[in-house]
Amino acid sequence: MHCNNPKLYPSATGQQAGQPRYGHLIGNRWVDSAGAPLPVLAPATGESFAWLASGGSAEIDAAVGAARAALDGEWGLVTATERGRLMQKFALLVLASEERLAWVEAHDTGKPISQARADIRAVARYFEFYGGAADKIHGEVIPYLNGYNVSVVREPLGVTAHITPWNYPAQMFGRTVAPALAMGNAAVLKPAEEACLICMELGALAVEAGFPAGALNIVTGLGEQAGAALTRHPGINFVSFTGSPEVGRLVQESAAIHHVPVVLELGGKSPQVVFADADLEAAASMVCKAITQNAGQTCSAGSRVLVERSVFDTFMTLLAARFAAVRIGTPDEDVDLGPLINRTQQEKVLTFIKNAGHDGLPLVAQSAVPAALKNGFFVPPSVFGPVPANNALVCQEVFGPVLAVQVFDDEDEAVTLANGTEFGLVAGVWTRDGARQQRMARRIVSGQVFINCYGAGGGVELPFGGTKRSGHGREKGLMALDEVSTTKTVVNCYL
Ligand code: NAD
Repeated sequence: MHCNNPKLYPSATGQQAGQPRYGHLIGNRWVDSAGAPLPVLAPATGESFAWLASGGSAEIDAAVGAARAALDGEWGLVTATERGRLMQKFALLVLASEERLAWVEAHDTGKPISQARADIRAVARYFEFYGGAADKIHGEVIPYLNGYNVSVVREPLGVTAHITPWNYPAQMFGRTVAPALAMGNAAVLKPAEEACLICMELGALAVEAGFPAGALNIVTGLGEQAGAALTRHPGINFVSFTGSPEVGRLVQESAAIHHVPVVLELGGKSPQVVFADADLEAAASMVCKAITQNAGQTCSAGSRVLVERSVFDTFMTLLAARFAAVRIGTPDEDVDLGPLINRTQQEKVLTFIKNAGHDGLPLVAQSAVPAALKNGFFVPPSVFGPVPANNALVCQEVFGPVLAVQVFDDEDEAVTLANGTEFGLVAGVWTRDGARQQRMARRIVSGQVFINCYGAGGGVELPFGGTKRSGHGREKGLMALDEVSTTKTVVNCYL
């Protein structure tokens, strides 16, 4: 069965009655799977409100085939300028539907509606940015021997596979798909089963914008079925994966079977280092925001704060006041903190909080979840500190609104603590000392360093990615275009 609408049909009876059921996008048609669909739960209430087709190797095979056919056909002939125009048109369609799309994203992920609106604007921005770049990626001419003309041309990789997580489904769509399409690849996206309705809504807008059949394909389903089938498929030429380090390793192993290049973005344990000379008020506000935004489910969340001992008590007072003011609520209430994505994540984060208590970690601040929200997947934002460097709260990614505070006496110790985890994604440094700003930026091992500010979210132009267990490769910025393309050196002897 196939149709022209991502919502295949609302079922008339049973559990699915009246709820939209989303299909896969393959070759610009929406298709169903034979197997039972997956329920989509609203994190704020715990109730199902939509259904997803559950794909596997058959759907992945069809999607990769459609992508290859697109490259060999109409999509492969679209000029760079026209690709850019299609992307700009798509961005305008996204902006024109901002409110509707934000509602879908907010209810699917649980995030406050204004955060969802920002995510939708970010999708448009990714397509504007990479659409604008599409016809500005030029090759090189290399001086060589007399009688030779040597050019280096940049080409798409082919069929690109994209596996994305549930924390920012909309933004991830823009971040990973836009550069691939800008370079002329044909994409197959396998978004996370926990939250991905927005991907199908965006897919429908891509069809409306005029992308030829097969340029963008979306297959929904479980990671170990649809995701694993995609990464081991012999027809793909690249994999972009964002998610957990454990699955990242599986993806890389699977892609290695066919020697397919991989970009991995695997999360972090990002520190913000607060020196005594910093603007402590500004630092406290940003430290609170950087762990409560998206309920802490952000790979670049500032999940550790390192505080110079001489201002420790002052900073803890400021921080406690910020956390006490955090308002918890549903997407429509549009306050500061929404629920986590599902029961599993809620229980995982609550276990971290319980274990912190068992370990005797001092509780600096914690807000109560209102009783009216008891059916949703909410957890209380919590700050613990000082936390020893070997404690789980310092070493492991919690992926919730839980902040670990560490204390240091001098710059060397701050660097040691900042670099003291297996991760290296983002870091923040708060100091007014210009020389120290430069030293810290050089010594901290991570993909991004923010000085007297924090947050990679909106910066589409800023290259982003990890070191160590946070992954490898770069997304965002013009560098992302290098990852989804390759070069060919053409040596022409004209003697
Ligand atoms: P995950 O790594 O299991 O899932 C991420 C994506 O990979 C999803 O689309 C999933 O369907 C897919 N996937 C799962 N197994 C796969 C397989 N064998 N082959 C191919 N694809 C597969 O992440 P999760 O279960 O959603 O979350 C677990 C933890 O990962 C979280 O607690 C958090 O710490 C971390 N996480 C990190 C990020 C990030 O942005 N870095 C995002 C989400 C989750």
